[in-house]
Parts: sequence; structure tokens; C-alpha cells
Amino acid sequence: MGKVLIIGAGGVGTVVAHKMAGLPEVFTEILLASRTKSKCDTIAARIGGNRIQTAQVDADHVPELVNLIGSFKPDLVVNVALPYQDLTIMDACLETGVSYLDTANYEPKDEAKFEYKWQWDYQQRFKDAGLTAILGCGFDPGVTSVFTAWAAKYVFDEIQYLDIVDCNAGDHGKPFATNFNPEINIREVTQKGKYWENGQWIITEPHEIHKPLTYPHIGERESYVIYHEELESLVKNFPTLKKARFWMTFGQEYLTHLRVIQNIGMAGIKPILYEGHEIVPIQFLKAVLPAPEELGSNYKGETSIGCRIKGIRDRKKKTYYIYNNCSHEAAYAETGMQAVSYTTGVPAMIGAMLFLNGEWKSPGVFNVEEFNPDPFMEQLNLHGLPWWELHDVLLEMD
Ligand code: NDP
Repeated sequence: MGKVLIIGAGGVGTVVAHKMAGLPEVFTEILLASRTKSKCDTIAARIGGNRIQTAQVDADHVPELVNLIGSFKPDLVVNVALPYQDLTIMDACLETGVSYLDTANYEPKDEAKFEYKWQWDYQQRFKDAGLTAILGCGFDPGVTSVFTAWAAKYVFDEIQYLDIVDCNAGDHGKPFATNFNPEINIREVTQKGKYWENGQWIITEPHEIHKPLTYPHIGERESYVIYHEELESLVKNFPTLKKARFWMTFGQEYLTHLRVIQNIGMAGIKPILYEGHEIVPIQFLKAVLPAPEELGSNYKGETSIGCRIKGIRDRKKKTYYIYNNCSHEAAYAETGMQAVSYTTGVPAMIGAMLFLNGEWKSPGVFNVEEFNPDPFMEQLNLHGLPWWELHDVLLEMD
């Protein structure tokens, strides 16, 4: 059906490549490119069957990207490098006339801040060029956004209260590690909390709001309100929402490490001078922490991510919980990556498939909840991320 260029050979890129390679009728040619070509070669060799071609690219540089895209001529570029590369890759897509998909919104390197504004500003240019940009097609954002669209379409007449709940009940056996890129992960979880209520954003201290929530097949876990990027697009696209929050579970051990890392300045993003060299503390920290792709082999347990929603149906109040549980061990057995990479890579593959078959193809820049949720929900069940619904249950949300 089409040719894809995947950029980024980390945990998520590995899963995307595996999943696409298994669908030759959809993804006829696949090129995996990243900063370190040897990582692409290792992934391609593990998948085998000459399904994956590889290349080196520094995605911070538009001319390099333009050369690569121009020579391979894909139908779609799937960006699973880092959020820092979103804009350069979008620029290169515009220059070469190719559509775009990613899983995380743009962040500038020198400021721990993420918002959609930078990418939404590309709307007119993608529209004029007749190209599609699909933003946030991982699990959260991604599946959680589509779950919300599905609930708005089929379950409620009006959705009013949204709580996205993200639990990783896995144990990788390391004293401290992050499940995806440490730099991005630590920037995300150490920032102030933020949620939407009655038409405005409420800012909290980091991890200020927390309580135990009960997750299916897992049990109770302490859960913390943090800011997560899909809230920004969901409150815009579902204006009936009175309140929208994002909760993530953290263990005490993880939080203690995080506090120490922050207190001693290792989470800093400004360069410091060390023995005559400029180093960025958080980048140095990343170099000494376990790489996310190394966590898989001993990872036990499950993730459970979903949406708890309250609203109105047939003039009555209604509650609804939709979620997926994903086993780290099963994800590792299939792709060599743990569940956090798996739950991100599978939706990216599905989004790419729906673009290629025309179901999610329209000129402009879109968050995933703006597309028809039906084919995406169907494909989740077919490709390793089945979902479950609970109606009229206690949501533990005030
Ligand atoms: P990793 O750090 O494991 O992988 C990132 C890859 O991108 C690495 O191979 C890295 O290369 C490559 N890369 C970095 N900079 C460049 C560059 N300038 N040019 C080319 N390649 C580059 O991250 P993950 O796989 O864990 O995450 C990938 C993306 O997925 C991130 O944007 C993350 O935020 C997002 N994500 C989204 C989630 C969701 O649910 N929506 C959840 C988890 C992650 P090298 O190997 O040389 O360093």
C-alpha cells in the first residue's frame, strides 16, 4: 500500500519497525533512519527478511532530512525520534511534499516546556500543500485521545469530566530507571502539575495532588496529577469538558530518587562547565542511567492506561471507564521491548496504516481525536492492545 520512513531507533522505533515489518501488504517498503545507524542495523537484523532498510540522519538538520526523504520518497514520515526534532522534520516534510506522524509534541531543548502551539502553527502550510500531519499518535497522547473521541461518539450525549489514568505496575529490578527517554521523562514528571477546570488551567506544585486509585488486575496504586500534553488538545476539541486531569502512578522509591536528582542539580537543562567542557546535567544523567531498551528482559508486570469519564446520557448522569492493560513480558517476547515502548509503537503503526489506507488522510494538522475513532479502535484489538469498557462503575473521582 505504501512506503514509510521511520525516524528514531530507540525503544518506540524498534516496536514500530517490528509491527510494520509484519504487515508487508500495508507497509511495502520501510526505511529506518536515526542518528546512530548501527542501532538501525541491529533492529533490521533482528527483524530479518530484508524488510527494513537503514540510513543515518541527524534530524536536527533540515537539509539532511530533505536529502533522505527526497531520495527514498516515502508516502509518510513517522517521527519517533525526540520531541526536539518535531519541527525540523515537519519542515522537511513540507519541503519534500510528504505527510507526517508523531507521538509527542514539540519541546525546545533549552526550555522544559511543551505545548501544541508550535505544531498547530503549521496548519495552513500543511493544508495548502495537501499534506496530512497526525500529532500525538502513541498511547498517551494517542490511544487515550481516541478513547475520549469514542466515548463522546458512542457513550455520552455530553462528556463533562475526564480523568486519564496511567499506571505502570511493572518492576524492572533496577533501583532507578525511566521507561522512555530519561531526559524527556524527567522533564515531564518534575514540572508543575496542571489541569483544566471550568474553562481555565489550574497550576499545582509538582505531585501536590495525589491519592490511591484502583487499577484493573493490579489493585491500588498511589496516583499523582501531572500535566500531560493531550489535555491541551482534548479540552479544545471537546469543549463540553468541565474538568480534565491526568494521573500517573509513581512508587515512593522512584519519587525519592527524583527528589535527590533535582536537589543536587542533575535534572538541570542549562549547560555547565566541567573540566573545560560544556555539559548539560540531565544529558549526562541520561548517559549513566539504564537505556529504556535495556529494561525489557527482566521486566515483570503490566501497564494499565485508560480514561475515566463522567457525563450525561439520555438526560441521566453516567460513568464510564475504558482501558488497556499491557504485559511487559508479552511485549518483550514479541518485540524485544517493554510495554511502555510497545504501547507507544503499536498506535503509531496503526495511525500510519490508517493514513496509507486513506481513513486518516486529510490536508492539515490534526490531533488524533479529530479523526474517526472506529477503525483505530478496531485495529487496537487486532494488533496487541485490546481494550475493555466498564459502564456505570465507581470511578474514585470527585
Ligand atoms: P529513545 O531515547 O529510546 O529513542 C530516541 C531515538 O531517537 C534514538 O534512537 C536517538 O538516537 C534518536 N534521535 C535522537 N535525536 C536524534 C536526531 N537529532 N536525529 C536522528 N535521530 C535522533 O526514546 P523512545 O523510543 O523511548 O521515545 C521516542 C519518542 O516517543 C519520544 O518522542 C517520546 O517522547 C515518545 N513517547 C511517546 C509516548 C506516548 O504514549 N505518546 C510514550 C513514550 C514515548 P541515538 O540512539 O543516536 O541517541
